Amino acid sequence: MKKIVALNLKMNLGYEEALEYVNTIKDKISDTYEVIFFPSAIFLHLFKKSGYQIGSQNVHYENKGAFTGEISPYQLKTSGIDYTIVGHSERRLYFKEDDKLINKKVIGALKNNLKVILCVGETDEERRLKKTALVISNQIERALKNIDSFDLRDVIIAYEPVWAIGSGKTPSKEEIADAIKFIKKIIFQRYDINIRVLYGGSVNKDNIKTIMNIENVDGILVGSSSFNPNYLISMIDIID
Ligand code: PEP
Repeated sequence: MKKIVALNLKMNLGYEEALEYVNTIKDKISDTYEVIFFPSAIFLHLFKKSGYQIGSQNVHYENKGAFTGEISPYQLKTSGIDYTIVGHSERRLYFKEDDKLINKKVIGALKNNLKVILCVGETDEERRLKKTALVISNQIERALKNIDSFDLRDVIIAYEPVWAIGSGKTPSKEEIADAIKFIKKIIFQRYDINIRVLYGGSVNKDNIKTIMNIENVDGILVGSSSFNPNYLISMIDIID
């Protein structure tokens, strides 16, 4: 199975910039990796023309209804979108998404056959208090409540320490390896299946090779280093 390179563009790019971005990346990233772009919803169709896999940064849990401003998993799937991120720390922090809501979103997405990248990770304080394993374990248990091992095949977990996102700081190789091993272990113990686990948080040209080569890492979720398409292409070239 190919390793994943997932690219979270967050709330960036204007229309012309998005057009230029898509033109720049077209045919430039080798197919050694499963590359998935997560642009703002307004650009999903534009990015679809790039030929890479495309996902949504967010999703509602209902298929239809009076939820002004939201995008449903049904709308995504019927628009040819295959992936969605759920539980990103910026959604948890700025939009007060809790584990209960995240669980509903995961269920809604899976019902529509969307693949889910579920983000989990500890804050700086939780890390200092040595609560990383407990936090991750609780987040996973709550986010995956009432989901069986069959549906779990469409779930990828991204280990994203909150303090590493956009900060330029990363955990040590050992910390990443331990967290990912731990996530795989608890999933295997609870569901008897192996799922893929990504690392996310301040991946850049200087650390991409090291991080991609850490044992058990099935790929990366990249934010800031994907905002400039030329930087992104040269960063992926390093691991190609
Ligand atoms: C992210 O937004 O998921 C992320 C990992 O961001 P950054 O690469 O900027 O830390």
